Amino acid sequence: MQEYDIIIIGGGPAGLTAAIYSARAKMKTLIIGDMVPGGQTMLTDRIDNYPGIESISGMDLMMNMYKQVETLNVPVVTKKATEIIQEEKGFIIKTKTENFKALSVIIATGATYKFLGAKGEKEFGGRGVSYCGICDAPFFKDKEIAVIGGGDTAVYETVHLLKYASKIHLIHRKDRLRATKIMQDKVIQSPKTDIHWNSVLEEISGEKTVEKIRIKNVKTEVSSEIKVDGVFVFVGIQPLSGIVNDIVTIDKKGYILTDQEMHSSCKGVFACGDVRAKALRQVSTAVGEAAAAAFSAQQYVEKLKGEAYL
Ligand SMILES: Cc1cc2nc3c(=O)[nH]c(=O)nc-3n(C[C@H](O)[C@H](O)[C@H](O)COP(=O)(O)OP(=O)(O)OC[C@H]3O[C@@H](n4cnc5c(N)ncnc54)[C@H](O)[C@@H]3O)c2cc1C
Repeated sequence: MQEYDIIIIGGGPAGLTAAIYSARAKMKTLIIGDMVPGGQTMLTDRIDNYPGIESISGMDLMMNMYKQVETLNVPVVTKKATEIIQEEKGFIIKTKTENFKALSVIIATGATYKFLGAKGEKEFGGRGVSYCGICDAPFFKDKEIAVIGGGDTAVYETVHLLKYASKIHLIHRKDRLRATKIMQDKVIQSPKTDIHWNSVLEEISGEKTVEKIRIKNVKTEVSSEIKVDGVFVFVGIQPLSGIVNDIVTIDKKGYILTDQEMHSSCKGVFACGDVRAKALRQVSTAVGEAAAAAFSAQQYVEKLKGEAYL
């Protein structure tokens, strides 16, 4: 079995950044990621808030990070890690076909979208119901669609979808949006948007594909139907912490708890990025934490090997 100083699980912005720092510290490093480069950033049309780069597509930003990893010759295993077993000195990381050994592990597994749980949502998945604007927007060119949600992602995605759809019904359960003001204005001021405040999605229906939705105003209790060809659901994310939730402490929502230096409750396991319990989930916060996690893992490994510079 191959042995590494640091194994990083996840190939999003946090995982790739941790790899850059770890490799530059001459740690024997491996990335295990189901997609590399991968992660949520690949799903977004524009990143306008990453310092030093005024505007870039999520995919281009990730390709740039990946090129930097490649120049450092960090090996990559493009597989899903399925289990982590804690041993006396180190960890075994299992994939379906191969196992790897590491003295320390950095968990950078991020998060994924949440389902709404509305009637018809599952049945029409891939037949008009989507969770990714950048993947599916072109299918809805000149069509009327609904977007569910009112947070950052819902608003950013609506701005992207406005380039394609003829009309967007934004369904939000509150009476105001929770997103960067500059993006809110783009949505609110567009003549193509119709915002349904205080409203929740009750049902998605149609014959073969989505044809209409039923929404309910939670204040007036009145339900109404809207004809749409597609429904985009952006109601938040959930952490992908399942692989370690029996060896590290997680919060009520499943996010990994760490200290300021990214140590989890399990010695030798570090966490960074969207999988970590924190207030702001962005590329800039993910990469900062990843640098700190790699540095902490390096110090941990050097101590184990008796090579610490202390
Ligand atoms: C639509 C959208 C728009 C966004 N727009 C912006 C923006 O404009 N600006 C901004 O700063 N942020 C934006 N974000 C947030 C940003 O994308 C995230 O904060 C960032 O991607 C977090 O990086 P991460 O590496 O922690 O996690 P992720 O990007 O989620 O990457 C984690 C990776 O690990 C993989 N993984 C999970 N489990 C395993 C396993 N067991 N084995 C192997 N691999 C695994 C995942 O599949 C994924 O590829 C946006 C997010 C979305 C969804």
